[in-house]
Amino acid sequence: MRIQYNCPNDACVAIIEYGPLEEAVGSIECPRCHRPHPLDVTETVRTHNRVDRCAVCGCRELFIRKDFPQGIGLAVVLVAGIASVILFRSNLLAAYAVLTGAVLVDLCLYLAVGKVTTCYACRAEYRRGRLNPDHEGFDLATSEKY
Ligand SMILES: [Zn+2]
Ligand SMILES: [Zn+2]
Repeated sequence: MRIQYNCPNDACVAIIEYGPLEEAVGSIECPRCHRPHPLDVTETVRTHNRVDRCAVCGCRELFIRKDFPQGIGLAVVLVAGIASVILFRSNLLAAYAVLTGAVLVDLCLYLAVGKVTTCYACRAEYRRGRLNPDHEGFDLATSEKY
C-alpha cells in the first residue's frame, strides 16, 4: 500500500508519498524540510495490507472515498458547457450531443477510478491497500470533531 500525506512539520507544506507502507521501519525523513518523523505502521497494515490506524497521527477514524480526479472532471464539464452554449445557437442536436458526451466521460471516470482511504484527522491518504470493512464514506459529523 502507498501513503500520501502532508509533512507533519507545520512550517513545511511538502506532500510526502511513501510506499510500500508495510515495509516502513521507524522514521521517514521529509524530502523538503529534512526533518524525520515516525510512521507508526500497525500489524494489520503489515500482515493484511489494510489500514486500521493512521500511520502518521495514530487516528483510528478514517473514511473511504472515490479517488476521483476532481480537476479533470470539472474541466470536462466546463469545456462541454462552453461548447454547448456556442452550439445552442446554431446546432441544437450537436449541443445536446456534447453535453451527453461530457456526462458519459465523467461517468466512465467515476467508474474507472479506485478507492482511497483517508484519515479524518490529518487527511493522510492510503492507496492500493485492501479496504477496511469498518470504514465508511465521509461523514461530516465525524469530520467536525477534528
Ligand atoms: Zn517537511
Ligand atoms: Zn492521520
